[in-house]
Amino acid sequence: QKAQKKAHKIAVIAGDGIGIEVVPEGLRALEAAARRFDIELEFEHFEFGSCDYYLEHGKMLPDDWFEILSGFDAIFYGAVGWPDKVPDHISLWGSLLQFRRHFDQYINLRPCRLMPGIKSPLADREPGDIDFYVVRENTEGEYSSIGGKIFEGTERETVMQETVMTRTGVDRVLKYAFELAQSRPRRKLTSATKSNGISITMPYWDERVKAMAKGYPDVSVDQFHIDILTANFVLHPDWFDVVVASNLFGDILSDLGPACTGTIGVAPSANINPEGEFPSLFEPVHGSAPDIAGKGIANPIGQIWCGAMMLEHLGFKEAGDAMVSAIEKVLASDDKSALTPDLKGKGTTQSLGEKIAAAIG
Ligand code: ATP
Ligand code: MG
Repeated sequence: QKAQKKAHKIAVIAGDGIGIEVVPEGLRALEAAARRFDIELEFEHFEFGSCDYYLEHGKMLPDDWFEILSGFDAIFYGAVGWPDKVPDHISLWGSLLQFRRHFDQYINLRPCRLMPGIKSPLADREPGDIDFYVVRENTEGEYSSIGGKIFEGTERETVMQETVMTRTGVDRVLKYAFELAQSRPRRKLTSATKSNGISITMPYWDERVKAMAKGYPDVSVDQFHIDILTANFVLHPDWFDVVVASNLFGDILSDLGPACTGTIGVAPSANINPEGEFPSLFEPVHGSAPDIAGKGIANPIGQIWCGAMMLEHLGFKEAGDAMVSAIEKVLASDDKSALTPDLKGKGTTQSLGEKIAAAIG
């Protein structure tokens, strides 16, 4: 009797703008990988989580979104936001940030890798020089709403906002980062803080790094202050392998990292609940890009790479690696005709998506 294959259920939310254009190319690539590696993926599409849904229903998500999405193994998201229709604080707060919080996606993961054929804004950098991950703490830290305002409207007006770090919260992101470092050939972890200026929470983070490091003797650890670390991202990106940081510092690094690798259209990101108790969410770094939406010229690579991260998260590392290799192969090829305009090509979202899907096999 043939062993029963488990179907992996994926919720697909294309969202707004170019999300609607790049998601089908992400799915095309995923289907190619699923065929080649004999993986069963089941996609279900949802209209919610977009500004059009909001305009029709007065909310970004249905009331039972948690029950609906809890049944899925992962969420494949395009982009959310269309500031002319709905203010960003409503569209973002009403969708992605709800998922992040309620699905306890406490890891934000961004690979920063310079791909072949893409010019880094940093001089003389080649593929191989930039290949690291930023691991950002995604649920606590500097982004707490604890604080307040006193003497409002007077000369003495004072505002304050607290940073919150819990041992559980810090340790779980560090553990994830150490394990990621351990799984990579260089086995190097860099932690970012600002312990010389922020004298309670940041030294605490440093202490937890030292404590955690004892359990990973094969991982080499560097601790940097955030100011010099950002300088080194630009001056020496080749120093880094896995970079871990608190919510605010990680937010900054996870924009700076991909920026060092060229076009915004190729970078993926993941919001991960590592235990798999809740679905994790995969979305490109770029937004809905209203300036190019509807023209069929958005670069689909960020979305396709998200698919690769999703497969890896679901336990199919080989299939994920094959998707990334296909992206690299198409970018490295001398035939630029299928590439999108941001890559100096004359192709479309679809022509580039088809080429990558074909390269997957
Ligand atoms: P966010 O929604 O995260 O606030 P944003 O509005 O700051 O993002 P994007 O929507 O990502 O920014 O667009 C920034 C710029 O990058 C725009 O000029 C857009 O056209 C370009 N861009 C973004 N994504 C892509 C893509 N996939 N392909 C080509 N160009 C892109
Ligand atoms: Mg935007």
